[in-house]
Amino acid sequence: MMPEPLAFIGTADLAGLLRGKSIPLAELPNRMGRGVGIAPSNLMLSVFGPIHDTPFGTAGELMLVPDPGTETLIPAPGGPDIHLLLGDFHGTDGVPWDCCPRGFLRRALLALEAEFGLTLLAAFEQELVYTGTEDRPGSPYTLDALRRQGAFGGALLAAMCRAGIAPDSFLAEYGPCQFEVTAGPVPGLSAADQAVQVRELARAVAAGLGHRAILAPMLRPDGTGNGTHVHWSLLDRAGQPATHDPARLHGLSAAAEHMAAGMLHHMPALVAVTAPSAASYYRLRPGRWAPTRVDLGVQDRGSAIRVCPAHAAAPDSAARQFNVEFRVADAAASPYLALGALVWAGLDGLRRGLTLDSLAPAPLPASLAEAMGHFQASAAAADWFGPLHDVYLRFKRGELTALAGLDEAAICARYAAIY
Ligand code: GLU
Ligand code: MG
Repeated sequence: MMPEPLAFIGTADLAGLLRGKSIPLAELPNRMGRGVGIAPSNLMLSVFGPIHDTPFGTAGELMLVPDPGTETLIPAPGGPDIHLLLGDFHGTDGVPWDCCPRGFLRRALLALEAEFGLTLLAAFEQELVYTGTEDRPGSPYTLDALRRQGAFGGALLAAMCRAGIAPDSFLAEYGPCQFEVTAGPVPGLSAADQAVQVRELARAVAAGLGHRAILAPMLRPDGTGNGTHVHWSLLDRAGQPATHDPARLHGLSAAAEHMAAGMLHHMPALVAVTAPSAASYYRLRPGRWAPTRVDLGVQDRGSAIRVCPAHAAAPDSAARQFNVEFRVADAAASPYLALGALVWAGLDGLRRGLTLDSLAPAPLPASLAEAMGHFQASAAAADWFGPLHDVYLRFKRGELTALAGLDEAAICARYAAIY
């Protein structure tokens, strides 16, 4: 018997996991407008599986409606490819659900465009550990490490190309068996979709080779972190680059400075969403090429926000290359929530005309619990997230309760088993 090809309609949820439902591929045309029915409490499925707490109970019905433009083929070992479609939650009346992760990002991007005429481009740079290669000393960035990982990197880039995702690079990173994959910049919603797709493609390609791609922020408390760095830049109404102004501080346009200042201003609360696991904070420690402070640096990979270089040799494209990198994120975060929170914070910086000189560097929150305290106390976050603000806090409190009594090594292991 031939296996029935499947379509999977899903979203990257509060746990940053891709969850949804599958249907026969032949049924997909009938489901395009309607979607698949899902209980609101599905959003409260914890990273570890069980629902620890939910305001929705067992009642209610939502439709997860696929976006046809997101169709991606996910290789499944021994079976036909799965057709992945990313979607938005609507009520059965067709009204967008106010707790939908993708809707949260969509609203932020629309507000940025409506109020300031700016389109945000983003590129996600994702680090992972591939288990199908041996750990040998002296390997960071070597051709040797790249060669020894075998078919994984090339197969991943081919799967990305097949999905219409333009790969920027694949390289052997600093940590044992650690690699990094980056997609080129695209408009914000597509960038978040692509981040979800690349994670799943990495996991699927590794599984096809009998191994895992582990994106957990830390595999061991004393190890090397896996970051998900988010590069962003702006286009104006005419589609022209609007991030760079060589005459201004750090080469940032006024709009880019306001946005970066907004992200810095809200960072203590923001990181509860962008670095959202207990283990995320073991990564944000000194000596890891990861940020430890709420700061902006020019071409400094230790800072929370890095102003990236543009190459003078190509002045006509310098304005297009110029971008800003947010480094306090990892793969425990839903790309929709992480990028959405960044855009909302940047938008607040634009609305208030915040500037970099008005901000003093401070330490980043040292734990998820501390970040959640800032998130809970933030009136701005309550405004951006709406009902999702309290829902998210309940969700994350349940996650921390599930980890109570475990030491850092055990906590890393719990997350590494999943991400
Ligand atoms: N692995 C580092 C992190 O956790 C980043 C290294 C780099 O600069 O790419 O963010
Ligand atoms: Mg890296």
